[in-house]
Amino acid sequence: MSHIVSFKDVHKSFGTLSVLKGLNFDVAKGEVVALIGRSGSGKSTALRCVDRLEVIDRGEISVCGHRVSDPKINLRRLRQDVGIVFQSYNLFPHLTVEQNITLAPRWVKKIDRNKARNLAQEVLAQVGLEEKIDYYPEQLSGGQQQRVAIARSLAMRPQVMLFDEVTSALDPELTGEVLKVIEDLARKGMTMLLVTHEMAFAARVANRIIFMHQGQIHETGTSEILRNPSTAELRSFVGTGL
Ligand code: ADP
Ligand code: MG
Repeated sequence: MSHIVSFKDVHKSFGTLSVLKGLNFDVAKGEVVALIGRSGSGKSTALRCVDRLEVIDRGEISVCGHRVSDPKINLRRLRQDVGIVFQSYNLFPHLTVEQNITLAPRWVKKIDRNKARNLAQEVLAQVGLEEKIDYYPEQLSGGQQQRVAIARSLAMRPQVMLFDEVTSALDPELTGEVLKVIEDLARKGMTMLLVTHEMAFAARVANRIIFMHQGQIHETGTSEILRNPSTAELRSFVGTGL
């Protein structure tokens, strides 16, 4: 079984606040796993540990063959394999869509201008925005900017994509177009670990749901657990969320 992401007994504290308390889970190649749970349950922290934006205190994380917990890890290579998209899209306002997308590949992979433009066209097609290649971020809607941010991650050809509540800063009428892009990627076999509060979306796209509560996995299974929770905590969570 080829695991792209593997958490073994992962612990993480911030000062005296214990946020992850022995997290164990794997994401197989091509699998889509959704992390759900109340605010403060440790979802973003777990995601950030995958990319070593946070360093864990105890346990082990491996991602695409990289031992993330190893202090000598090659971060540049880890981050080529992991694409991460946050709630805030953080595009550079003074760069065009093409320049935003090709900045990292041109630096890291040393590709020339023509190749870079072709790459930008290719990943923009994946998010349905080919015609915006020469636009500046401020000329795009929030949903379009978030789709460019996804395209920018795809341009590094990651092995796994991490999404952290990527629609929660958007107006409700713009969330659908972003979720659709993620769903398309899932259907094409992209391995994904995503944090979302869109329960219907999680049920539709995820092979497996992980409900986090107080830094641990409280309940996990297929989307069936959303319809038929076994714990009082998940029942109460979906009761308010659905
Ligand atoms: P979630 O994404 O599930 O809402 P987070 O992982 O963001 O939860 O946060 C879990 C807890 O850790 C929260 O209480 C949060 O305030 C705290 N926390 C997160 N990041 C930091 C940090 N860098 N320093 C201190 N506390 C943090
Ligand atoms: Mg969060």
